[in-house]
Amino acid sequence: MSENRVVQGRMVTAKKLAELVEGDSVMEVDTIAEADESCPECGGNVLTVTYMPSVTELVTGRKCQDCDWSETDRD
Ligand SMILES: [Zn+2]
Repeated sequence: MSENRVVQGRMVTAKKLAELVEGDSVMEVDTIAEADESCPECGGNVLTVTYMPSVTELVTGRKCQDCDWSETDRD
């Protein structure tokens, strides 16, 4: 999957978005979508990305398109 999005003013791939959420490299991105919510920090648009940081783990993360805010379902 290679759907590019603009995040904090830069065009990023789905994989790069997952890496921004994870803070590390990821193996694979499953899905990327618009989240039905606004950023708690700035009210900006939020993206949801489901990815595999390793073969045994599937994580759903959320990332604001306008600021540094992100969160995963691990939290
Ligand atoms: Zn934000």
